[in-house]
Amino acid sequence: MSPKDPLEKRNAPWRAASIASSGEKYIENQTVHPEETKEKNHHSGYVALVGRPNAGKSTLLNCMVGQKIAAVSDKPQTTRFKIQGVLTKPGGQIVLVDTPGVHQPGYELNRRMMAAVQDALMGVDLVCLIRDAAVSTGNGDRFVLDLIKQSEKPALLLLNKIDKLEDKSSLLPLIDWYRNEYDWREVLPISALKNQMIDVLVESFLKHLPEGEPIFSADDLTDQSLRVMVSEIVREKVLQATVDEIPYVTAVVTEKFEEVREDFDRIQCVIVVEKLSQKKIVIGKGASRLKEIGIRARQEIEHLLGHRCHLELFVKVEEDWRNKEHLLDEYGLGA
Ligand code: GDP
Ligand code: MG
Repeated sequence: MSPKDPLEKRNAPWRAASIASSGEKYIENQTVHPEETKEKNHHSGYVALVGRPNAGKSTLLNCMVGQKIAAVSDKPQTTRFKIQGVLTKPGGQIVLVDTPGVHQPGYELNRRMMAAVQDALMGVDLVCLIRDAAVSTGNGDRFVLDLIKQSEKPALLLLNKIDKLEDKSSLLPLIDWYRNEYDWREVLPISALKNQMIDVLVESFLKHLPEGEPIFSADDLTDQSLRVMVSEIVREKVLQATVDEIPYVTAVVTEKFEEVREDFDRIQCVIVVEKLSQKKIVIGKGASRLKEIGIRARQEIEHLLGHRCHLELFVKVEEDWRNKEHLLDEYGLGA
């Protein structure tokens, strides 16, 4: 990691984890070519994605980085980690910070989430507000807007999900409203899901980032947090398999990531729930549900790794873990 990275300290616990070298496959398309870095007017920097839960932050991140790295779900609040996506282009390098959904403070976890959002805003070069353009403005939108106003950072406004709008002119009053509230560098209607205007967005990011060398070298990029990605995949499968039976209490921790052979890894994940009743739901009759979760997660992890793996899942009950500081720290969710 370069000393230029303001997130270095925060990411330290993940980065300290031993990451299988097979992770290199994952970033193949992001290799920094020396000839590219010598180009004139190279821009680089950190971009924070902020927005209400469900605005499409994870979808946008996945669509730009080109790999599935953050959990995407119809349910809000599925992103707990500040996962970074790094996008290296001939014109520069964009480091994306996917902030957790913005919430009113309540649970200890949510207070930390808020702190994480504010923290992320301080350390970045550009803030990107992503807003679901297909829903009307609510308190949550004002709250996110206030965060950006307080940060006084250069900001882009993304009006997402335009594919859902039958009448695109309905965007105009929304744009007017936002333009009166803040001095946006640019306002862009996009569709993260349908990949509309994403190339324009990437150019716009580069244009508004400061001039400078890439923050991450090719070596740094091989150090992606594979464990976190694996946890996110398992978490997504748990959420999908338990649909309305379990609220947002699940944390998944990758406890072991062992490279048995170059083309085979042994992985152990722990699924943390708050109650015994939830543990039973996750496991299912005769462990049928856990088996299903395991199969689906393994297929996706193998796709990510580019080779086979053995995935073991455990379910553990930690009562009230969301309010316990030491558990949050243990699971890497601490501030
Ligand atoms: P996050 O909570 O901000 O990370 O939101 P997600 O990325 O998880 O997206 C929430 C939901 O909105 C998911 O069901 C996405 O498929 C959907 N979504 C995201 N972007 C778009 C878009 O551009 N168009 C449509 N129609 N749906 C989208
Ligand atoms: Mg998300």
